[in-house]
Amino acid sequence: MKEAQHLPAKERFKVVYPEKFLAELDKAGKNLDKPFIRRALEYATKSHEGQMRQSGEPYIIHPIGVALILLDLQMDTHSICAGLLHDVLEDTPVTEDEMTNEFGETVTQLVGGVTKIGKIKFSSKAEEQAENLRKMLLAMTDDVRVILIKLADRLHNMLTLGAVPPQKQRRKAQETLDVFVPLAHRLGIYRIKTEMEDLCLRYIEPNVYFDLVRRVAQKRRSRQRFVDDLTTEINGLLNEHSIEALIKGRPKTFYSIYKKTLKRTSDLADIYDLIGLRVITLTVADCYSVLGLLHERWKPLQNRFKDYIAVPKANQYRSLHTTLIHPSGQVFEVQIRTEEMDRIAEEGIAAHWSYKEGGKSAADFHHKLSWLKQIIEWHKDVADSAEFIEGLKVDLFENQVYVFTPEGKVLELPAGATPIDFAYSIHTEVGHHCVGAQVNGKMVPLTYQLQNGHIVNILTSKTSKGPSRDWLDVVKSTRAKQKIKAWLKRENREVDLARGRDIVNEELQK
Ligand code: MN
Repeated sequence: MKEAQHLPAKERFKVVYPEKFLAELDKAGKNLDKPFIRRALEYATKSHEGQMRQSGEPYIIHPIGVALILLDLQMDTHSICAGLLHDVLEDTPVTEDEMTNEFGETVTQLVGGVTKIGKIKFSSKAEEQAENLRKMLLAMTDDVRVILIKLADRLHNMLTLGAVPPQKQRRKAQETLDVFVPLAHRLGIYRIKTEMEDLCLRYIEPNVYFDLVRRVAQKRRSRQRFVDDLTTEINGLLNEHSIEALIKGRPKTFYSIYKKTLKRTSDLADIYDLIGLRVITLTVADCYSVLGLLHERWKPLQNRFKDYIAVPKANQYRSLHTTLIHPSGQVFEVQIRTEEMDRIAEEGIAAHWSYKEGGKSAADFHHKLSWLKQIIEWHKDVADSAEFIEGLKVDLFENQVYVFTPEGKVLELPAGATPIDFAYSIHTEVGHHCVGAQVNGKMVPLTYQLQNGHIVNILTSKTSKGPSRDWLDVVKSTRAKQKIKAWLKRENREVDLARGRDIVNEELQK
């Protein structure tokens, strides 16, 4: 197996001149229509001629940077062309008709979608932002590639934020963290998400960021030696058992270390010393064999083992995670997955348009999008936008718990979710009429906290009085909260109406 070279985005994409892009394009897969892409590059260069970026560089380095990020994600011909042309409709006299004549409808529609999103003014006011975010999510259902191009656009803007005034830097970084990072996360595009997070931290908390960079750099040499030794040892172990696999060192992102420092107060020293390895295997069975061998050789930390192969995350992430203790006392984390799982983990939904594999079935694609549709379903009936963004933030950032229906379907709920959350995620009516719940066959209170892997069965009654106000204090999911609130509101209105009618009747009788 060959290892792809992944330099940090900063070096790869920041300033990209046409020659470099063309060289990378030459190296790329055969399924790309390279002459078509070269034509888009020429067209974009001509259209943006004379325009400059704030840094003083020619404008065209920006669309080229965006296209290279898309090329790196192995996106299809249309997306890469749209990346090159993404600012042409907005910033040059070229019209949609002219672009359609040159590059066809698909490319023009993608550019049109990106232009439309670009016009959305993200304001600091949560309400307006939420409104826009919702439109954006809705717009996405037309063609998710629009969002992928927009994410590449934003990543490149973040990479080149240095030339922008400090106040704007902070604002852009905050907006990226609030809107685009969660989107990249939900779409499973880890590579873009982590690059964005580190850049956001750099501009929002510069002191923290540079302190982290310094501390991590201090230990770099000893850490690298440890990783090398460990890699040799694991390779030996795998050879003994004739398992073919690729072992990679996995540098921690600064943002992930930063988040760990927020969670833990003591033992800061070992947080900076975190070591991660990834073992890429040929088959799923090998994943479990490798896990067994590692647990035999080193002592695993309790409660740190996660099987995302048996129970994948909602964004399609699959992998085994374990944390082991070396006799030296050094703790190290290992992720074990197949090559296919590794690509989905890095590229998420983008992996779907891979020029390497050609088109996959539409059904598969719609399956992958179903969670996205769910988000939209859950939020389109929310009147209050501030509540919407708050809810979305909770849904996007909190840890999740995965439970089963009696039929074996996996449902994703926020950590701490109760049987009431579960009931509402099945159906609003099931939620309104739930009176009890069983977990793994045993009765539990409705306030019970569900754990990963629980099988949940909801008991309903047609004669139940409906949700109680107390439920609002125990439910964790946005959907359950909203449905309960809506029900209570309607209930109050009916009580008010009845009372009003009584008053009128009394007056009439007088
Ligand atoms: Mn742009």
